[in-house]
Amino acid sequence: MRIPLIDLQAGFRPIREEVFRRFDAVLETMQLLNGPNVEAFEKEFAAYCGSRHGVAVSSGTDALCAALWALDIGPGDEVVAPSHTFFATIEAILLSGATAVLVDVEAGTLTMDFEAFRAAITPSTRAVIPVHVYGHPAEMGPITTLARARGIHVIEDAAQAHGALYQGKRCGSLGDASAFSFYCTKNLGAFGEAGMVTTDDDKVAEKVRLLRHHGQVSRYEHAKIGRNLRMDELQASVLRLRLPDLERRNQRRQEIAAQYAAALAGHDVQVPTEWSGCRSVHHVYAIRTSKRDALQDFLERAGIGTGVHYKVPGHLQAALRDYPHRVESMTVTESVRHEVLSIPMFPELTDAQIHYITDHIVRFLEQSTLHAAHA
Ligand SMILES: *Cc1c(COP(=O)(O)O)cnc(C)c1O
Repeated sequence: MRIPLIDLQAGFRPIREEVFRRFDAVLETMQLLNGPNVEAFEKEFAAYCGSRHGVAVSSGTDALCAALWALDIGPGDEVVAPSHTFFATIEAILLSGATAVLVDVEAGTLTMDFEAFRAAITPSTRAVIPVHVYGHPAEMGPITTLARARGIHVIEDAAQAHGALYQGKRCGSLGDASAFSFYCTKNLGAFGEAGMVTTDDDKVAEKVRLLRHHGQVSRYEHAKIGRNLRMDELQASVLRLRLPDLERRNQRRQEIAAQYAAALAGHDVQVPTEWSGCRSVHHVYAIRTSKRDALQDFLERAGIGTGVHYKVPGHLQAALRDYPHRVESMTVTESVRHEVLSIPMFPELTDAQIHYITDHIVRFLEQSTLHAAHA
């Protein structure tokens, strides 16, 4: 059996005809940008998140950059973020000109450690970017309370957390601004690149709208130096088609996660933690074992796709060299990077595939305990 880490075709097949029908409608009008699909999707996705505004942009990275820009963060400012994240989180801070202050994660969920955030605050701290890594919400209650008391902006990196809940509230509505990615592999994926900033703040929304379209206030008039960060109509038409199905697909991810956890219980492997009061949407399903590399080889030889999120954490990236940054204690980050192994996670996984995967993991773990006992 061959099972990829993620199967994008399986997600496309059931909606194929409707996708082409919608593409056809967009191409008939040739309104490829600034059209009705983008406008409608902004409203629909913001409402889904429980946010007042949604401003569509061209990627999740651009959403992070635009949020930082809209909050006037730049050179001399410090922005705190976890090192254990996809590199774009940190890249966005450095592109803004601010100093990236990288902190450790908490050992259970691998989201930003609240105490590490508190300890990293200085008079220059202007923002914090908690990342809902793997689809599990960061500790937003304490983080936002402390940030508010200290006048620090909270920008959620919700690129992996469409539909995740923290104490009944959706990720994307918990900070001053949030960045979503609709990259093709995300829980809500376009067929290409797309992103969005959600916010309750009228000014932030207005500024992101300005930035994404060359700072243009009316035709041929530019009040600011902006960028071209627009989402296109074809991607928006796909996202509108898929949004109503997001809940069902997230539920299926939760079922798969529960099946994985049940099958691996009692074995020498750590499955993802879920805090009470939180709903993870399991963008990534990362198990942890000290025999990570050997298990990865074993699974790959059995045709099972795997990944390591993240093999090289942000603070160890060569790219940081020439940019202002500070690295705090990284005890958990440095150890988990040798232990995490992502196994297939997508809503179309069948029960037979899930059994094949867990059978192989269990077989490997039993063999290696046997070897250890004989050694
Ligand atoms: C995917 C991702 C991004 C970047 O999104 P793009 O749309 O690929 O630019 C940022 N942060 C995290 C945590 C991500 O997973």
